[in-house]
Amino acid sequence: MLVISGFAGTGKGTLVSALLEKYDNYALSVSATTRSPRQGEKDGVHYFFKTREEFQEMIRSEELIEYAQYVDNYYGTPRDYVEQKLAEGKDVILEIEMQGALKIKEKFPDTLLLFVVPPDADTLQKRLKGRGTETPEIIKKRLHRAIEETEYIFKYDYLVVNDQIDECVQKTHAIIQSEHFRVQRNEDFVKVLQEDMKKFK
Ligand code: 5GP
Repeated sequence: MLVISGFAGTGKGTLVSALLEKYDNYALSVSATTRSPRQGEKDGVHYFFKTREEFQEMIRSEELIEYAQYVDNYYGTPRDYVEQKLAEGKDVILEIEMQGALKIKEKFPDTLLLFVVPPDADTLQKRLKGRGTETPEIIKKRLHRAIEETEYIFKYDYLVVNDQIDECVQKTHAIIQSEHFRVQRNEDFVKVLQEDMKKFK
C-alpha cells in the first residue's frame, strides 16, 4: 500500500492517472467524500459522493480504514476495495491528505508515504488558480492548509518534485518499484532460501 499526498494543485491527480495508465501493477483506491462533485466527476469513479449522514454511518460501521476532515469536508478510504486489491498483489495507491496518511502509517507501518511538491510556491498558486475548479475563497483555504502541511513533510518517506510531469511519473514509479526489493519486504523468500540452502550442509 502506498500513499501519495501533496498540496492542493501540485498535480497529484495527473501523476496518479499517468501511473495507472502507463503501468499495470497499480490500483487506485476510490475514496468516499462529503464534498460536492466537480464538473465531470462521476460517483464511484472519482469518489463515492456521500451525505454527512451516510459518511457518519460508514465511520460507525467501520467501513473506512481512515478518514479525515479537509477544509470543509470529510474524506475517507473504504476498506473492502483496498483489501481486495492488495490480495490480488497490486500496489494500491491512496491519494489522500496528510492526517489520513499518518493514520495509515500508524496502522500499517510498511505503507510507503510519498509527498509531491511543486518546484516553488508561485508555481503552486498558479496551478491552483489555473485549474479553475475552486472559488477564490476555497483556494485561499487550501493554500493556508498547505502552509500547515509543510510542517509534516518530514514524516514522509520520499519527496517527489513535480516540475516536469513525465519525469515525475518515472521517478515515482522507480521509487515504488525499488521498495519491492527491500530485504525486510522479502522476509518470506529469504526464509525459504535459508531452509533450502541447508541441503548443502
Ligand atoms: P479534493 O477535494 O481536491 O478532491 O481533495 C482534497 C484533499 O483530500 C486532497 O489532498 C486529497 O488527496 C484528499 N483526500 C482524497 N480522498 C481522501 C481520503 O480518502 N482520505 C483522506 N484522508 N484524504 C483524502
